[in-house]
Amino acid sequence: MNSQLKDKQQLVQNILSKVTNVKLYINGAFVEAESNQQFANHNPFTNETINYVAEGAQADIDKAVSAARAAYKGEWGKLKVKERLAYVNRIADLIDEHIEEIAPLESYDTGLPISQTKKMVARAAQNFRFYAEMVSARLVGDAYQVDDEFLNYTIHKPVGVAGLITPWNAPFMLETWKVAPALATGNTVVLKPAEWSPLSANRLAEIIDKAGLPDGVFNVVHGFGESAGAALVAHPDVELISFTGETTTGSEIMKNGADSLKRFSMELGGKSPIIVFDDADFERALDACTWGIFSFNGERCTANSRLLLHEGIYDSFVKALKNRVDNIVIGDPLDSDTQIGPLAHRVHYERVKGYLDLAREEGCELYSSTMQDAYQDGNYIAPTLLLNVNNSMRVAQEEIFGPVLSVIPFKDEEEAVALANDIRYGLAGYVWTNDLKRGHRVAQAVDSGMLWINAQNVRDLRTPFGGSKHSGIGREGGYYAFEFFTETQVIHVALGDHSIPQFGKKGE
Ligand code: NAD
Repeated sequence: MNSQLKDKQQLVQNILSKVTNVKLYINGAFVEAESNQQFANHNPFTNETINYVAEGAQADIDKAVSAARAAYKGEWGKLKVKERLAYVNRIADLIDEHIEEIAPLESYDTGLPISQTKKMVARAAQNFRFYAEMVSARLVGDAYQVDDEFLNYTIHKPVGVAGLITPWNAPFMLETWKVAPALATGNTVVLKPAEWSPLSANRLAEIIDKAGLPDGVFNVVHGFGESAGAALVAHPDVELISFTGETTTGSEIMKNGADSLKRFSMELGGKSPIIVFDDADFERALDACTWGIFSFNGERCTANSRLLLHEGIYDSFVKALKNRVDNIVIGDPLDSDTQIGPLAHRVHYERVKGYLDLAREEGCELYSSTMQDAYQDGNYIAPTLLLNVNNSMRVAQEEIFGPVLSVIPFKDEEEAVALANDIRYGLAGYVWTNDLKRGHRVAQAVDSGMLWINAQNVRDLRTPFGGSKHSGIGREGGYYAFEFFTETQVIHVALGDHSIPQFGKKGE
């Protein structure tokens, strides 16, 4: 037996020992749902049932919120900041210690290639460390001295119980992206993970349990969006909802949370352009474009799913892209050589296949690599280029969320910007050109929350993450998440005996 195969079998054994039936985590205990209902969780590369998950709903959300509120009012709320942040750093250490076990679990549950989940889990640990550091530096904000008479200063306090609702496309990373700032700033949490990828949320609960956080500080309620998710959104004792998911779901959540006047953070869908000019560094642009759409199986909100290509290099770039597509390694997500694995769920696979049928109906030419029959039972979609696309087609306007790239030619800068902006989304954008002035001009003209010039999607944790238009409201990351998860209070203090108008005082 070769060592690669042996390692993989070992990985599978480790995973199987962790995927016993999945429970809810409420008030420091792993429990069944009040209804005792469960739903099946499937493996995306064979579509076999791997285990069953407790199906939380209103009653479980009520229990979790009340535990979170009690912890907020109790032990957690009374901790010194230093003590709280020590817990947050401990979570980071424990994630780091368990990367080799969480990453395969995540790949097993979602189909994401293990080479990519390993990086995401490492990043998850960094999320906790980053916010521990930021919070210790930022709790006292601006201060203003006014005419030697007053000092005004701001402080940042926790908000209360945070409701976090997350998607399945990079579950562990996206959960920690919210949990880390929420806990570091002193809130308590009820997390509703996506129903298609429940496993790593429970590893997070086990880690947080091991880190010794007081009961009720962190709670996980699995279940469906329309029941568990909706109950969390409407709950009067939940002060904020941080949501990542589809644009239509975001809009539904805002309506349902309106009565309880919550604050919302919305990280929504995208259909981001990559604009490649004829003077760009051809090979580097090709690398970035290929990685940007086909990594994470194309299930990536910031994927460059629309390639806007200067007509002068259209033929040569498409030829080179076809070559890349032919050579992308499709395989078992647990194999470290795999570049594309199966999509996370059968329903999503059918949706992406539906878009490929639509592309044919809309008159596109499709170019895909051939795939081995061995993958027929899994949710595999071969990397695909859509050619002969014009920007008004549905396949150019709607988020497909799979390894599918729409290619659209342009003739000049003005047309490139017009095409980039002729869409309801505005999450990310990428520009490739060796003309520095043009790079900045185009970057600033594109409607997107984030834009990379001559770079693939690399982001420092201090920078804001999020989109404009229908891609989101607010920003996550860096100071922006810190602000979202805190209540700002300004304190005005008099430094001397300033004059106060004397209403109603009788003359002496
Ligand atoms: P989704 O909207 O279907 O589900 C996301 C979460 O919302 C799940 O936990 C789901 O159970 C819950 N939910 C569904 N209906 C709900 C309701 N009525 N009330 C409360 N909760 C509800 O999204 P998805 O299919 O899981 O994720 C894919 C989408 O997420 C894509 O559109 C992708 O672009 C987007 N996404 C955005 C970002 C970003 O940062 N902008 C990052 C990752 C993914």
